[in-house]
Amino acid sequence: HSGSSDSVVSSESGPGGIGDLGVIKVMLLGESGVGKTALAQIFGGLEDNLPHVLGDSEEAYEKKILVDGEEAALVVYDVWEQTDSCSWMQENCLQMGNVYLIIFSVTDRRSFSKVTELLLQLRTSRPNEDLPIILVGNKSDLVRSREISLEEGRGVAVMLNCKYVETSAALHHNTRELFEGVVRQIRLRRSRRDR
Ligand code: GDP
Repeated sequence: HSGSSDSVVSSESGPGGIGDLGVIKVMLLGESGVGKTALAQIFGGLEDNLPHVLGDSEEAYEKKILVDGEEAALVVYDVWEQTDSCSWMQENCLQMGNVYLIIFSVTDRRSFSKVTELLLQLRTSRPNEDLPIILVGNKSDLVRSREISLEEGRGVAVMLNCKYVETSAALHHNTRELFEGVVRQIRLRRSRRDR
């Protein structure tokens, strides 16, 4: 898996579709400063492969992880902010993912208020698709400056019909679980589809 063409051309089952043998494309969305790069780098570093740059402005981390005794290949894209000034790139980003992590910082209400908008944008781009979306409240280690409680985060996730996970990239807390959750979400949908 290499070359930027992969980031544009999607796999077997249509745009952003999940090919049975395909690599799961995980897109990180969220405001600047919430910890997207930190989480992507932790993912990349779970084993010792180095991040590879796909293009001038893209960064992706690819690796295989073992979840419930079965291997899965994931590529995590940390490219969202670079799409800010380019609506074509942004739309491409919204089309190509198999799983979306919408990240905010639990210490930053502004980043939290952006979540609904991002989710709406995503669902508008991919109507009629049961997309796996995980809402991620990062920086859970910063207890004293927390502005969003666990309950509030969960509440919004329920309202928006997505999963909720709190992580601390600083402490590597719940980060492995986050990416394992990504794989489980995909497998769940696959087993429903194949039924
Ligand atoms: P991005 O703009 O969303 O990619 O955010 P970054 O990954 O660049 O993180 C922004 C800042 O927040 C950096 O200084 C990180 O070290 C810090 N940061 C990221 N995640 C955490 C976390 O879980 N806890 C704490 N305390 N700081 C974090």
